[in-house]
Amino acid sequence: MGLRAKLAFAVLSVVVLAVTAYGFTTIRHEERVLQRETEGRAVALLRAFAIPCGVAMANNDTPTLDNYVVKLSEAATSLDLRYMAVLDFQGRVVSHTRQGEFGKVYDDPFTRTALAAESPQTRTLVEGSEPVLEAAVPVVSGLRWGTIRASFSLSNVEEAIAARRTRVFVFALVMMSIPGLIAFLTLHRLVVRPIEKMQGMAERVSRGELAARVAIRSGDEVGQLAEQLNAMAQRIEDYTASLEKRVEERTHELAAANSQLVEANQQLERLAKTDPLTGLYNRRQFMEQLDFEIRRGARNPHQFALILLDVDHFKSYNDTHGHSAGDELLQRMAALLSLNLRGTDVIARYGGEEFVVLLLDTGADEGYATANKLQQVVEAQPFPREETQPGGKLTISVGVSFYPHDSRDGRKLIDYADRALYKSKERGRNTVTRWADVRES
Ligand code: GH3
Ligand code: MG
Ligand code: MG
Repeated sequence: MGLRAKLAFAVLSVVVLAVTAYGFTTIRHEERVLQRETEGRAVALLRAFAIPCGVAMANNDTPTLDNYVVKLSEAATSLDLRYMAVLDFQGRVVSHTRQGEFGKVYDDPFTRTALAAESPQTRTLVEGSEPVLEAAVPVVSGLRWGTIRASFSLSNVEEAIAARRTRVFVFALVMMSIPGLIAFLTLHRLVVRPIEKMQGMAERVSRGELAARVAIRSGDEVGQLAEQLNAMAQRIEDYTASLEKRVEERTHELAAANSQLVEANQQLERLAKTDPLTGLYNRRQFMEQLDFEIRRGARNPHQFALILLDVDHFKSYNDTHGHSAGDELLQRMAALLSLNLRGTDVIARYGGEEFVVLLLDTGADEGYATANKLQQVVEAQPFPREETQPGGKLTISVGVSFYPHDSRDGRKLIDYADRALYKSKERGRNTVTRWADVRES
């Protein structure tokens, strides 16, 4: 049940309680007033006849007495008389509105009390389902002659009360409903509405609308609660903003660290592939490229030449000019090879003063021509202090093998080129030898 329904229920309960309490008290009071009024009228009526009846009784004048009784019953029309009796001092009926009662002796407690009393007596009781008022007044005419005893129906009084009851309840309901409605509206405005607003705001904040606030400006506890709720939302908003900022900063730092890592990895990869002295591919990378080309050849038939070249009498150069001059020479050699080969060719330092080249998509004739060109370029190239070399020139010896002509196996191609190179050395250096020539000789 919602707060509004609970409030309506509470106000309605109070209204119903108030209406019931008011209705019952009022009706009870009116009932008593009406009864008392009826009693007063009944006693007054009986009293009016008490003296004449006393005179008639003193004279033992029964016909007159009966006449009085008839008159009295006629006079009592507005009082709804049930019966009336005149009793002597012993309680015997000397006159009665009903036939057949004459001569009876009434000996009930009320009659006994009335006979003994000097003042009028009344009582109310229910006979069958009928409310009844009984009244008795002493008959005095000089002496106490007897008692007039009468019974009146109170049904009319009850009916009048019943009619009043409905009106009283309707009136009370209307009168209580107005303050009830005012109480409901006031409490609704002071409590329910602000709580609904705060609940709506809290719901928006929980959905992620952190800027949601509630506008309640009362100085009471409800207003303070609203202020505290707003302060809480503000703190959540501030904290979230600072958290987001920190996350953003961390993300930037992470991105920077990542790019440094990527760069370092690339550098590492470059270092792993290249020879630090010449900047050419190293032997490991060359072997990978060779394997790759062999695998490629198994799918798409193609051809390439493998050139192995070695600086002649390099030890002598080293020994004569020093190790760093030797290094420099190796660098010059690497640059010269790169300059005289295509960008698609794979050039690597195979080890020491040995270089290896893969001439991709190159046939035997073209490969052999390129190997010769390299040998001639080196021979023609003036190197620093080469005049100390045997023959006065710095030269290279070259060995060549061809894929797939000589072999489809990478290791064998290297071995064949190496053996061809060895052959070039044997033939006096500064020359090119093909594996085919070695094999045939
Ligand atoms: P050949 O004509 O038979 O090839 O004779 P060579 O002297 O060139 O061959 P050898 O194998 O006797 O000597 C090669 C020399 O190369 C020995 C070694 O000190 C030198 N060497 C190997 N790697 C490097 C290097 O990285 N830097 C320098 N400066 N020298 C190197
Ligand atoms: Mg060598
Ligand atoms: Mg050498």
